[in-house]
Amino acid sequence: MPLLSIVDITSFNTTFYSSFVFIKGEEKLDYLWALNHFACLFHDVPKSKVVVMDRELALINAFKIIFPNSINLLCNKIVYSITENKFEEKWNTLHFLYTNKPHVITYLKDTWLPLKEKFVTAWTNLYLHLGTTVTSRIEDAHSTLKAYLQVSTEDLYYIHTTISLAVTNQKKEIDAMVASERIHVPLFALNNPLYSNIRGKVSTFALKKINEQCQKTNCAITEKPLPPCTGSFSKTMGLPCAHTISLLENDQALILDNALQSLLQNLQKRYQEWLKSQQETAQVTLDNMINTLLIVLQNPREVFTRGHPSGTSHCSLANSTRRNPSGFELVEHKGQQCTLY
Ligand SMILES: [Zn+2]
Repeated sequence: MPLLSIVDITSFNTTFYSSFVFIKGEEKLDYLWALNHFACLFHDVPKSKVVVMDRELALINAFKIIFPNSINLLCNKIVYSITENKFEEKWNTLHFLYTNKPHVITYLKDTWLPLKEKFVTAWTNLYLHLGTTVTSRIEDAHSTLKAYLQVSTEDLYYIHTTISLAVTNQKKEIDAMVASERIHVPLFALNNPLYSNIRGKVSTFALKKINEQCQKTNCAITEKPLPPCTGSFSKTMGLPCAHTISLLENDQALILDNALQSLLQNLQKRYQEWLKSQQETAQVTLDNMINTLLIVLQNPREVFTRGHPSGTSHCSLANSTRRNPSGFELVEHKGQQCTLY
């Protein structure tokens, strides 16, 4: 029985297991069933925008139905063309080189060319894929799982227990990484004002990627200027590129993306789809929210007085965290108070 494993990426650029599904076969209907159950796990959590997968047509077709708004990239081992023109150029060269082997050209034309937007860099660099354009991390995750399972002939209970163990261990590793990254900041980011807003909030992996862009900016000042911005670094990594950094003032800090920005973009998109009456209701609600006076609760003013407030004793037992005195301590205390010298 095939086991479909779905993995995701942490902010440290490591892989974690997201879901496992045993499927009856590898037909479109099997993938539809599996992906449908996977989609149910999201509830109101935004679904993954970009998914990388092998060229399995049944899976690709099922994916398009269940995740119509997501992009699926195919394992990018074939063509690295940065622009569409470069791709055309390379394709024409290939055509020319294999003129005497028409079956190769026909195969590429029929099988791969219709899917070029899913694996050629010129198109894949338009999406936030965090540098993952090949399925090697899935293969790595799969081999780790195989090492846990050891044999493929055990029963479902054994497999469930073993997979649970693998996932638990992975969760522990991620927790340890989160704790470690909160404490350890890379040296280059420690006293640099550029990182003052994001230090301890983004992963070392992301900080290093930004640092690489900073190095490019610095080199551009001392050596040759930066090449024109293609925008692909920011689009694929979700981080500022060397060009953006070069535009910052001295001592200006980077800021985290404003979460409100994406909310507003979503709202704007949905607003266009609503009926007139729904749009009017939304306008009234938003107007009310903007114009309602903001009541901010503050801590009471602290008043410093001399001595204890009247009516309170120095040792208020009611609020004290000290233990109650034992019987013999009460007797001794009373005895001390009554002793006459
Ligand atoms: Zn740029």
